[in-house]
Amino acid sequence: MSQGVESQYQVLADIKKLDERIFRLQISINNIPVELSKHEKVLGEKRVVFEEAKAIYDKHTKRLREAEQELKIFEDKIKKAEDKLMEVKTNDAYAAANAEISNQKGEKSKLEDEMLKLMADLDKETEKFKQSQDQFKSEEAVFNEHKQKLDAENETLQEQLNSLKQEKNGVAEKLETAAATLYSRVSSRVAGPPVVEVSQGMCTGCRIKIRPQLYNEILGFTGVKQCPSCGKILIPAPPKAAMDPVSGMPTNGA
Ligand SMILES: [Zn+2]
Repeated sequence: MSQGVESQYQVLADIKKLDERIFRLQISINNIPVELSKHEKVLGEKRVVFEEAKAIYDKHTKRLREAEQELKIFEDKIKKAEDKLMEVKTNDAYAAANAEISNQKGEKSKLEDEMLKLMADLDKETEKFKQSQDQFKSEEAVFNEHKQKLDAENETLQEQLNSLKQEKNGVAEKLETAAATLYSRVSSRVAGPPVVEVSQGMCTGCRIKIRPQLYNEILGFTGVKQCPSCGKILIPAPPKAAMDPVSGMPTNGA
């Protein structure tokens, strides 16, 4: 029995190594969208500035076009009033037509003042609009570059992850039914790699000292055990640089 448990521990140790690599890879993969969102935030800020400047620019352009139309209407009205002036027969009608012309000319002049101011403003707004557009476009190019790089990185990491998972599944096939069931149950319940070493009586998963009896059971290969605190599967830590009494060289624990 203890021989069987010992070999199961070896399988679990191999799984542990692969799980740790899988876990680190997963962290890197999870970090990619976080990294991307930082760049997205900067781009978003530039977009807001650009869109605001564009809205002001559009508003000014629209008002200027309206004013041009209004100006034409005033010019028409003035022309009509001037034509009428030629045809009037009485002094009263002449005075009325003259007043109308003078009124329309006054309104037209106000409009022209407004248009001059609009055009001056539009020059400034166009400048701001173009500048913010350039800044947005260049930030967008930076963002696309980052995105491309991160997408490629993500693809590479996903490939590595898939191949590691496959490798692990191959190793996990060597687990006996009870250990396999336990491993799958623990995997679904704990965060991080489900197999941890117990070293000097301490679970290295949660840093809690386990009961000496449980520790002895693990060291004596009496069965595959879980940490009573964090629930992870405990395997004995490999002996640290044990020396071969004959050669004086470190043994590899075999
Ligand atoms: Zn623990």
